[in-house]
Amino acid sequence: MMRPPERFLLLEDNECDAELLRRSIRAEWPNCDLLRVSSKSGFEAALNESKFDLILSDYMVPGFSGMHALAMSLERCPGVPFLFVSGAIGDEVAVESLKAGATDYILKDRLAKLVPSIRRGLNEAVERARRRQVEEELRRSEEQCRDLLENATDLIQSVAPDGSLLYVNPAWRNKLEYTEAEVARLSLFDVLHPEYHEGWRDRFEIAKPDEASRWEGIFLSKYGSHLYVEGNTSFRYMNGNLAAIRGIFHDVTERKLALIALKRSVRQYEALVNSVDGIVWQADLCSLRFTFVSQQAERLLGYPVKAWLEDPDFWQKHLHPDDREKTLKLCRQITAERPYGSFEYRMLAADGGVLWLRDIVSMRTEEKESAQIQGIMVNITARKQAELARRDVQAKLARTNKVLSQRNEEIQNFYHTLSHELKTPLTSAREFISITMDGLAGPLNTTQKEYLGIAKESCDQLRACVNDLLDATRLETNKLVLELKPVSISVLMQRVLASMALMAAEKKIDLLHEIQPDLPEISIDEHRITQVLTNLLSNGIKYTPQSGNIVVTAREAPQRAELLEISVRDSGCGIPKEEQDRIFDRLYQIKAGDASTEQGVGLGLYLCRELVQLHGGNIWVESKSGHGSTFSFVLPKTQHLLRANVLVIDDDPDMLEMLRHLLIAEQYNVRIARDGHEGLNEIRRQTPDLVLLDLAMPELNGAATLKEIRNQWGQIPVILHTAFVDGDLMKQAMPFSPFTLLAKPCSSEQILETVRNVHRSGDTEIWKKNHHGLQRLPLN
Ligand code: ADP
Repeated sequence: MMRPPERFLLLEDNECDAELLRRSIRAEWPNCDLLRVSSKSGFEAALNESKFDLILSDYMVPGFSGMHALAMSLERCPGVPFLFVSGAIGDEVAVESLKAGATDYILKDRLAKLVPSIRRGLNEAVERARRRQVEEELRRSEEQCRDLLENATDLIQSVAPDGSLLYVNPAWRNKLEYTEAEVARLSLFDVLHPEYHEGWRDRFEIAKPDEASRWEGIFLSKYGSHLYVEGNTSFRYMNGNLAAIRGIFHDVTERKLALIALKRSVRQYEALVNSVDGIVWQADLCSLRFTFVSQQAERLLGYPVKAWLEDPDFWQKHLHPDDREKTLKLCRQITAERPYGSFEYRMLAADGGVLWLRDIVSMRTEEKESAQIQGIMVNITARKQAELARRDVQAKLARTNKVLSQRNEEIQNFYHTLSHELKTPLTSAREFISITMDGLAGPLNTTQKEYLGIAKESCDQLRACVNDLLDATRLETNKLVLELKPVSISVLMQRVLASMALMAAEKKIDLLHEIQPDLPEISIDEHRITQVLTNLLSNGIKYTPQSGNIVVTAREAPQRAELLEISVRDSGCGIPKEEQDRIFDRLYQIKAGDASTEQGVGLGLYLCRELVQLHGGNIWVESKSGHGSTFSFVLPKTQHLLRANVLVIDDDPDMLEMLRHLLIAEQYNVRIARDGHEGLNEIRRQTPDLVLLDLAMPELNGAATLKEIRNQWGQIPVILHTAFVDGDLMKQAMPFSPFTLLAKPCSSEQILETVRNVHRSGDTEIWKKNHHGLQRLPLN
């Protein structure tokens, strides 16, 4: 229902017309107010001052046209109806006024139309105002809607059943990196990861109105990167048909990627734990029930992982009965104060076997959790078995060694007794022969004298043999001690040559000598070097036929001023190549060929070698069958050279110092190196007689150092000093044997004994190499 109008404005200059109009209006709306103006200024003032429900206007008042008044009212109060009330106006003017915005026009002579026209005008105004309000509301709600969609951070889309995109919001475009124009040409399937195509097709098929469903999946951006989203979809129906699927999705890429990374790292961690060659485990400290065991548990012991976890006493039950008490006690000692431990024990495997395990245990101290322990059980069965086997072998070896050394002692005693028992009656027999030969027991005829002479000579030979036997025994029992003093080698040689002159003359052998003048006195045991030279000369005479010759020379060794070289060259039968290495062995004699062996027992050259080596020298032979032999030996000129050079390589400074002191006290020349590289440099500087090499060292370890030594210097005697006799490094060192093993830790006495033994046995090889070719580098 229209509200009755309250105020009218009337532009009319004619009083009579105005009165007529007022009456007409008042007749209809008696309470209404009607303000009449008759000029432009009055009209303007009225519009400014007050509000009107309707304006009535003459078409023309003096100085102010109705059209002008219309324009003014449209501008100031656009919703207020404006009616022309005028005298006769042409149709054209009327149409023009309506076009200009007038609500109606009424001719003054037809005032009966006035009220209906006013009513219509007022109704239209109300209708217009209402429409405007509706339009305004609509506009505002559209704006809000757009604001929400355009500024939402989630991806919003509307997709037609054929997949074409009906609407996407800017967040959608931005996240997937498309422009508005590009989106217009896109289908949903262009941005949907292929894995989800089928799912979306089904979604279109089974669409149900009013049903929203969750969806999570992957969109592909224009450049192919993955956008993980999750959200809801719903269906829009129009006239009973599916018109679109709406979707609002949240970008969860960061969370998904973090989840993927987490899963990956869990998988990696599991793979790592399961690849460790040992059982990785965790257990509750109080109950010792396992809370985790790696897959290796199943492989090593044969029980399924489930059994380990489900049975609260699994571990205790499967410990070897002999180790159970001790192991549980050790395990109980793991506390917050002593959070680490490592112990070895046996476990019973599913197949009835027994496994040795080394368990490295530590405590997990994480708050809010009951105390946990964790560890790795490493299978050490093979090592334990090897250890047992080694102990077995060692015990056997010790027993055999004992038996052998007992036998050796018995033999030495036998030699000793034999030679002493022989020597006394022999000496007395020889003395009685001498006395008889001298005629002190009565006169002798020539034949008797000749026979007694032969007997005396046999006694002398026998005495020489017995003496050799005695010396050999002394050497083997380490009882032969050199008495060193400065000796002129040329004087010594002259004396020996003189003593052998008769023997040589008997075989018409020329005994010549070449002695380098001004040879210095050297520190030697005069008696023993005389014995060596005598032996070589007597062999020379023995194995050289009648009228041959023997040349004895003494000189400074060529290029080795620190050594003196003495040679005995004969023109005798010579020695076959294959025998040359063996003739220095104890009791070795060449049986075949020209060499007559009716004299001697094969100890002569053995004694020569031992005596020369005791002096720190070396002896060797050069010979060719049928072309004579040259026996040579070298002696160091000074005491210093008598000592063996030992190189100690060890990275432990304390161990290095200890070994240095120990060996210096034993009269060795000791040099030290702190690692493999330094050790090799030391060997380059001066080849040692023996290397005492630590196996486990940083950088170049013992095995690698040994390899280099063998490659560059051949068979230098090496003692490997190690705590890991069955470790990997040992395996690496094996191909570079021979070497001697010295287990760490061991007593000083064991160290010295090993060094002494190796030095004595290794001497031959090393000196041969160093002195045959005289390659040994001069001392600094
Ligand atoms: P033996 O007591 O038999 O002489 P040696 O140890 O002195 O023992 O010598 C060992 C062997 O070396 C001898 O049996 C001999 O065959 C050989 N031999 C030693 N010296 C010579 C030499 N100058 N010429 C040839 N053969 C030699």
